[in-house]
Amino acid sequence: MQNEKVTAIVLAGGSGARMGAACKKQYMLLAGRPLLFYALHAFEQSAVDEIVLVTNEADYCRQEILEKYRIGKVKEIVPGGAERYHSVYAGLLAAEGSRYVLIHDGARPFVTQDIIREAAEGAKRYRACAVGMPVKDTVKIADENGFAAQTPRRDTVWQMQTPQAFSYPLILKAYERVRKENPEGITDDAMVVEYAGEAKVKLLRGSYRNIKITTPEDMALAKCFLGDQV
Ligand code: C5P
Repeated sequence: MQNEKVTAIVLAGGSGARMGAACKKQYMLLAGRPLLFYALHAFEQSAVDEIVLVTNEADYCRQEILEKYRIGKVKEIVPGGAERYHSVYAGLLAAEGSRYVLIHDGARPFVTQDIIREAAEGAKRYRACAVGMPVKDTVKIADENGFAAQTPRRDTVWQMQTPQAFSYPLILKAYERVRKENPEGITDDAMVVEYAGEAKVKLLRGSYRNIKITTPEDMALAKCFLGDQV
């Protein structure tokens, strides 16, 4: 039988510096649980076969999240790198043997079962897909002096989220090319595939709730979403 293994790579290897908090943002408590718990729990509940967790705090994660909340699908924990794409590549190497991978920011706690299912189906159908949402505000492209240079049509502009999901051989090869050629300004996994040019990336609607917790305002929003009055 053909290998159809689907692996989620959950990224928590960042420093969380923009939060300005003493504790790394991925471990800040949200309704009494570490932020990273929520994304791991969502993938645990989903149909993905395995989870690779990218973190530099393996012991803490094992004791305070995986064992405490009985998350059993994490098969490997690997350390992150200096930039997000280094962490993704470490996760990809650990996911060897998978047919599809869903790459997800551990700092996005509100990923839903529908989003995970659609991303996995998208990877099977298109080989490359990424969850996002059309922007609500008008977007301007600024010139070098800070004046408005262009206004793209709003219905064509999307804000990207995760998961971004791919055929494993396709994304691994694309990452290997990017590592060799080192182009500037790669900020998500879809861009890696766009750069390599072997597949078009299908955009899938996520949810306006699927926010990434980056600054203190996001934490306040997340508490609202959870109805947490603490
Ligand atoms: O920094 P940013 O908020 O864009 O990070 C998105 C996700 O990628 C976070 O979950 C973060 O922990 C992870 N990351 C990582 N390794 C890095 C930088 C970010 O795993 N070097």
